[in-house]
Amino acid sequence: MTILGEIRKDYFTNRLVINSEARAKRPAEFVAKGKSKCAFCPGRESLTPPAELVLVERKDAIAVMVDQVEPVKNWTVRAFANKFPAVSPSKVPLPKPDFDAEPAYGFQYVIVATPNHKLSFHQLPVRQWHRALTAFQELTKRLLHREGVQYVYGFINQGEQAGASLSHPHLQLLTLSATPPLIQEELKGMDGLASNTCKLCTVLEKELNGPRLVLKGEQFAAFTPWASTHAYEFWIAPIVHQTTILETTSKQLANVSEVIRSTLSALARVLHNPDFNLVFHISPRNHTEGKLHWHIEVYPHVTKWAGLERGARVYINQVTPEEAARKLSSRIRH
Ligand SMILES: [Zn+2]
Ligand SMILES: [Zn+2]
Ligand SMILES: [Zn+2]
Repeated sequence: MTILGEIRKDYFTNRLVINSEARAKRPAEFVAKGKSKCAFCPGRESLTPPAELVLVERKDAIAVMVDQVEPVKNWTVRAFANKFPAVSPSKVPLPKPDFDAEPAYGFQYVIVATPNHKLSFHQLPVRQWHRALTAFQELTKRLLHREGVQYVYGFINQGEQAGASLSHPHLQLLTLSATPPLIQEELKGMDGLASNTCKLCTVLEKELNGPRLVLKGEQFAAFTPWASTHAYEFWIAPIVHQTTILETTSKQLANVSEVIRSTLSALARVLHNPDFNLVFHISPRNHTEGKLHWHIEVYPHVTKWAGLERGARVYINQVTPEEAARKLSSRIRH
């Protein structure tokens, strides 16, 4: 029998698997494509859990609010607990498991990035990206303060191929009580306790002047990584060493918003609006495993992963990162 919200570790590796029957119970309205049924659209706020962070546009500032008895109207960004989470704050005791397992303890949130249902992320104005990232930063900070949270993982799934169940633009956050395996591997390889030892700092120095540069903003740069696992994959990182988005100033968030918007637009032009995942790699709460130079990774869904990729973690990329960078950078509009 599967227990609700259980996280299992592989026999031999650090691979983690969350068994969650709650996710499968997402009702049909959540997979509906029509705007009329979308729970994230303005006017349907009561269909979601109460928002714990709402940004509202005032005359010359953004007000931060929360839903009271009545949901806040006229919002520009809205964040609430995921109604169908894979992890849960209730620590359900597990009967003695056969192998390594624990309750899938954690919190899961949704940030609706715009009231406009029809926009795709590459169409979201820089100003709106900035607001969504401001909410993301604030929520990350709050979640890192909660008991038992070691990691806050943020991601975007755009399009059905990328796993989105709802087309209305939204970000997701999920907390884990352990550092995810890929982040552990990056921590080991990056050695990013300080900028003078950080390998991503060294990589950036080279990539900023190399054939894989897509866009150099004032404070953030986008490049296609040397060993891209996806065709047209690119990463966005602060040029000056930062270990988490919590260190990023509002002005810097504005710059990363510009870089994201420009590169996603270029991607949409080159590949005609591909589905993609955009993920945030930040340092874990507890630094005993080291610190990461934080960055964003974007994985366009162009080709399918097959036996080699799934079974050996060896990837075939049909577009060299150099060619991808050349095409993407040529489609950036300045
Ligand atoms: Zn909607
Ligand atoms: Zn660094
Ligand atoms: Zn990474």
